[in-house]
Amino acid sequence: MNIFKHLLILSLFSTYNYAQKIELRLQTKHIKNANVLLILAKSSQNNKLYAILNDRKTAFNPHPFKKNTFYALVPFHYFMQEKQHQVIITYTVDKKEFFEGFNIELSEDSYLSEEIKVSSSKVSLSVSNKQRTAKEYKEAIDVYNQVSQKSFWFDDFMYPLESKVTSPFGTKRVYNNTTKSYHTGIDFKAPLNTQIKASNNGIVKISKNRFYAGNSIIIDHGHGIYTCYFHLNKMFVNVGDFVQKGDIIGLSGSTGRSTGPHLHFATFVNGIQVNPINLINTLNTLN
Ligand SMILES: [Zn+2]
Repeated sequence: MNIFKHLLILSLFSTYNYAQKIELRLQTKHIKNANVLLILAKSSQNNKLYAILNDRKTAFNPHPFKKNTFYALVPFHYFMQEKQHQVIITYTVDKKEFFEGFNIELSEDSYLSEEIKVSSSKVSLSVSNKQRTAKEYKEAIDVYNQVSQKSFWFDDFMYPLESKVTSPFGTKRVYNNTTKSYHTGIDFKAPLNTQIKASNNGIVKISKNRFYAGNSIIIDHGHGIYTCYFHLNKMFVNVGDFVQKGDIIGLSGSTGRSTGPHLHFATFVNGIQVNPINLINTLNTLN
């Protein structure tokens, strides 16, 4: 064989070897609604790694604890109906683009269900309260949709207090056989003025009184992860404050639309509301 030909083959081979696929690992292929799918990618650089689900793009971020590893949290919306989904992962190695598709089976989690007597859309609010709630809703959605590239946490996530769950996440609110809404957080038993702790390090993005949620604190932990603490009696942090895991951010109460003192704890990932237990369990597998 001609030596040049030999070299050519050798160089082609090494090029091919360099532009090799990235090793991807999906935590599961059977997901529940309002849960997150964790995907790990082994690489020394980001390689423009994205996970795409129904046209929603989720960026991979550096793994908080493992070198040469990236992770993505793909949230599945509570109201997703279709059973079969495809998550497509895209990345670039040596200017070569790769696409890998994974079939994911979605099933409904065993959420409780309760009949409601009046549809929430029929509960009449005054014009000014309607404007207020619409403004507050938009303000929060705009916060949840901000995905900061930096993460602020380097430890497990914790619950904001140690107490009994009085109402779990996800309970369906059924009116005329149709699920109108669902319980968007976990309610913890919390007598008035119980200390409420930050679930992890982060930056306070909302700290104010809101119509439904009452005194509300929303913390951005980075990488699109948010925790929310509602119906507080007292708030000890302001927008822009950096809080550390376990810091006392407020005291529990019954402000806003609430029937008695408790803590409503909610979580968002990449703009989608998810089950806090699933999110915390998933995040804590990283460490
Ligand atoms: Zn609640």
